[in-house]
Amino acid sequence: MRELVVLGTASQAPTRQRNHNGYLLRWDDEVLLFDPGEGSQRQLLHTGISATDLTRICVTHFHGDHCLGLPGMIQRLSLDRVPHPVAVHFPADGADYFARLRHASSFYETAELRVEPIEADRQRITLGIGTLEARRLRHPIETYGYRLVEPDGCRMLPEKLSAYGIAGPAVGELLRVGHLDLDGRRVTRDEVSVTRPGQRFAFVMDTGLCDGVYALAEHADLLVIESTFLEPEAALAAEVGHLTAAQAARVAAESGVRTLVLTHFSQRYADPRRFADEARAHFDGELIVAEDLMTVPVPPRRVASAG
Ligand SMILES: [Zn+2]
Repeated sequence: MRELVVLGTASQAPTRQRNHNGYLLRWDDEVLLFDPGEGSQRQLLHTGISATDLTRICVTHFHGDHCLGLPGMIQRLSLDRVPHPVAVHFPADGADYFARLRHASSFYETAELRVEPIEADRQRITLGIGTLEARRLRHPIETYGYRLVEPDGCRMLPEKLSAYGIAGPAVGELLRVGHLDLDGRRVTRDEVSVTRPGQRFAFVMDTGLCDGVYALAEHADLLVIESTFLEPEAALAAEVGHLTAAQAARVAAESGVRTLVLTHFSQRYADPRRFADEARAHFDGELIVAEDLMTVPVPPRRVASAG
């Protein structure tokens, strides 16, 4: 199961249609919560996911719309007696904010938080499902975006294996060693397998255009990216460290993104179709203007290549 579940899509202030930011990524046995704004705990109730499912929380920065949901979510982990540790990542600069949010009010703390702040650009965290990498973004306070990179794998081709008469433990040996010697003939792993391309998810929140945006978006199967503004407000966007829908779409197009999810909309725009229209002129892949409680599947794995 690999999918994005959107809890909220509003920047700065929620609206009648949009909760503050908040995003869940279900990826095999991990459930990552990104940037829980106010109301995230209640939004979670509308999804099929419970606090007990959470394994990791990633905060990009400590502006309120990206973190004011932390106290409720953290207390909920203890209320529900979540039995496994939950890792938490956030910019190390904001450690004081995190400490205050974590202990914003009195509660009986039972859940184990594994606090792992992001200390530097390009910090990597090794997970069972791949590598979580943080990249510095351009915003008035320290901000990191995240990407999840699954390494390429290897898929054995049964018809090739049987053609060579390779079966049982020999398959494991071939995988491990990379080759097998059969009656004087060496069979390599590449001859009997194809590469299974790893999948990538990227999460780019509050930022002006910068190298980090492109580094995160590179070849993402699914990119969630802020588009707070539209082009008429491009100068304002650059001034306050935000993107327009057109900029986000161009990043996606130039980075080989497959599914583009726009979100974090300013409340000044009533009609979400304007974001789709602006982005469509620059990006011809799958384009989604996020709505609260929407689910977006990670697109099927790219086609495997030989050898
Ligand atoms: Zn911000």
